[in-house]
Amino acid sequence: MPAGLIIACTAAVGFAAAFAAEHIKNRRLSVAAEKLRFVDGMTGLYTRDGFLKEGAEQLERFRAAGSGVALMVFDIDALGKINTLFGTEVGDSVVAGFARAVSAAADGYVCGRVDTDDFAVLIECGGKADVQRFIEQFEDKLNDVFKETAVMDQVGYFAGVAFFDGQDDIHTLYNKANLCVIMPEGGKLTYFNRDLENRMVENEFLRAEMLTAIAEGQFELYYQPKVSFKTGDVMGLEALIRWNHPIKGFVPPCDFIPLAEQTGIITKIDEWGLRTACRQCKKWQDDGLPPVKVSVNMSQAQFYCTDVLTTIKNVLEETGLDPKWLEIEVTETMAMKDIERTVNVLSRIRGMGVSISMDDFGSGYSSLSSLKTIPLDILKIDRSLVCDLDESSTSKSITEAIVDLGKAMKLIVLAEGVETDGQIRFLTEIGCDLAQGYYYSKPRSVEEITAFLMLPKSARIKSSH
Ligand code: C2E
Ligand code: CA
Ligand code: CA
Repeated sequence: MPAGLIIACTAAVGFAAAFAAEHIKNRRLSVAAEKLRFVDGMTGLYTRDGFLKEGAEQLERFRAAGSGVALMVFDIDALGKINTLFGTEVGDSVVAGFARAVSAAADGYVCGRVDTDDFAVLIECGGKADVQRFIEQFEDKLNDVFKETAVMDQVGYFAGVAFFDGQDDIHTLYNKANLCVIMPEGGKLTYFNRDLENRMVENEFLRAEMLTAIAEGQFELYYQPKVSFKTGDVMGLEALIRWNHPIKGFVPPCDFIPLAEQTGIITKIDEWGLRTACRQCKKWQDDGLPPVKVSVNMSQAQFYCTDVLTTIKNVLEETGLDPKWLEIEVTETMAMKDIERTVNVLSRIRGMGVSISMDDFGSGYSSLSSLKTIPLDILKIDRSLVCDLDESSTSKSITEAIVDLGKAMKLIVLAEGVETDGQIRFLTEIGCDLAQGYYYSKPRSVEEITAFLMLPKSARIKSSH
């Protein structure tokens, strides 16, 4: 064989081998990714996707056999508190213990870890007596797993049960059982019932309305200034969503954000909010206003969504906003739910040059050791503490301790909901850096806040009263 051909053949064989190796590697990676999608790495149970996929097949088999079926969801009570009191390793062992108890009681039925602290199981079942038997077995196993451990007294759960009505698909059945743990009706166990059914129909309606609201531009962002106690300068603006409903008129966030969170629409709303706030911030800069940072609230669903980093990166690129003018607000409660993830996600967001503030601080359970590890720039003292400052010495002491803590951690400390001269006096005295509240300005529309930003400092407070 001529030398050239030998080289060509060897190169071809080498190329084919390299191609095959790459192909095998890619295949392994995609198998691994597929497995991760369906199997929870920590407990070995199905993930939510895995549970719904396997559950659909199982439900079909039960239906064909004419069996009664129940879908149960078990929600670990106060996992965040356990993480805080005992550390995340113990929290993880509680999750693992629940997984063992659920799967032992399920004994061959499809079961999964469908959320950080939720498990679901699909069982063949003749009625409430069978459910009760299942729960007893589950509690026995739970007792076996946790007896003589330090967390024994802390371990609790809520369970929701939905019976198959012959029509539901697995998603509807799961949503029904899940609604029972989201809205428990007193006691540990809630069966799906007529009231919850009505609620579900209303929720479904509102969900559709929210999708329309995004598509038809019914949402609007208002902006509330964050003001320096020392200089009176506006150091930032928090973007707060408003819904101008064509029939109901103004719908406050507290009436739709919780439902948007339950139904998953919140990730769409948050992405819209992020894009709109970044675009507006860039526009103010392009229009020649002094640059000011905007902060955007991030929901738990958005925070735990795998695409959150890509979303932020894309929005920044698309709007051309320098990351240093963006701040993301995460609440204390959601940050503490899974500290490892919080540290990972927030470090990467911060790595992009975006600032992070911890919202509603003082309203949840934070352990100091966890707080130390979370990458942060700003601590926002919860309004419930600030609004008591004029009357309550306890609130005063807690607020002072939070300011000291923030200073020790080299963070900027902001007080939310500042309304009175007395609050301002006290907060200035203890060294709090920033204030946000009606005293300075309520949240305002783009036009109003643009005019407000253009006023001289001395005229701003007057314009708020
Ligand atoms: P938050 O993030 O703690 O926002 C601060 C809330 O306190 C805002 O209520 C603001 O209007 C109100 N506030 C500010 N200063 C004062 C004051 O001096 N007195 C009183 N009484 N209230 C004051 P808002 O706009 O109704 O928002 C409520 C909550 O809804 C927010 O609480 C946040 O958790 C959520 N939210 C608002 N916009 C968004 C959004 O775009 N995305 C997400 N995920 N959540 C949002
Ligand atoms: Ca906030
Ligand atoms: Ca807040």
